Amino acid sequence: MIQNGFLVFVILTFLFSGCQKNLTEYSDIRIFMGTTVIIKVYSKDNNTAGKSVASAFDEIKRIEDIFSIYRNNSEISILNKKGSAEVSDEVRELIGRSKYFSEISEGAFDITVLPVIELWRNAKKKEKMPTQAEIENANKFTDYRNIIINEGKVSFLKKGMKADFGGIAKGYAVDRAVNILKKSGIKIGMVNAGGNIRCFGGKIWFIALQNPREKKDFVTILKLKNKSVATSGDYERFFSLDKKKISHIINPITGFSAEDSISSTIVTDTATDADALSTATFVLGAEKGIKLIEKYKNAECLIIDKERKIYKSPRFSEYE
Ligand code: ADP
Ligand code: MG
Repeated sequence: MIQNGFLVFVILTFLFSGCQKNLTEYSDIRIFMGTTVIIKVYSKDNNTAGKSVASAFDEIKRIEDIFSIYRNNSEISILNKKGSAEVSDEVRELIGRSKYFSEISEGAFDITVLPVIELWRNAKKKEKMPTQAEIENANKFTDYRNIIINEGKVSFLKKGMKADFGGIAKGYAVDRAVNILKKSGIKIGMVNAGGNIRCFGGKIWFIALQNPREKKDFVTILKLKNKSVATSGDYERFFSLDKKKISHIINPITGFSAEDSISSTIVTDTATDADALSTATFVLGAEKGIKLIEKYKNAECLIIDKERKIYKSPRFSEYE
């Protein structure tokens, strides 16, 4: 995950001191969606900046309240319980977008993996590897094609299906927060939700990509202007069972955690797309992942495979 925040900030301060003397920096940190959210803006007046940043945090909290599977009354928890529900336009749209990412990744990205995730969470608790039959059983519910969107209503075709937005909601929240900042007049800013980053304004932001196997080291430094970046990795959230490393990203084909990659980083226009595509390419692995990104307009990726070999899409180096 891209969390070398220190580097991001040191380099930025240096940049702005030279050319934007009338702008002051304002930043704040909160915890939302189980991760650290950092918002940083440059503005002429600190008071306005503070208000804008507070509204952006409120927006992230609003999205968390809708999409969280840890809140019993969230729209998604209700949909998961009932299997069919009237949903808000926003939920319908993000489900539609998730299905789109499933289609282009041939099912590597699939929000219906929740029953499988729950099986592995249970396995972690009990410290017992699930059987092949248990995995297959849980994975019977995985299939984005069984989510039906009909005007304001979303239905699951199979009883027991459940959706999880962990692979896309943070990116979506970042996009929405950026919208709020822009609307309130902020011209230059950055929102970072646990490594799902979007920066805006006519400035270049320097973002260090942490080395997944060597925390103090970094793989490369990205130079981004009006772009988003996200990384999916196996090195921050995982556990071990029978000496096997189980990460939090599921390969929907096998029902096991995805094993081909150590990390996948996407640079593209929106944080929603970067988030979903990083999860999708992490599952697909280097070869198929890069093929997908080559077809996708305006996206580039850097994948590290399990042998620690680095693969880049053809124009990734434009951001280095
Ligand atoms: P992180 O949440 O660590 O930033 P990701 O963006 O890659 O990483 O999202 C991983 C989360 O997405 C998991 O914790 C889970 O909630 C969900 N998920 C796991 N496997 C898949 C998958 N194949 N497709 C879509 N979502 C997934
Ligand atoms: Mg993701």
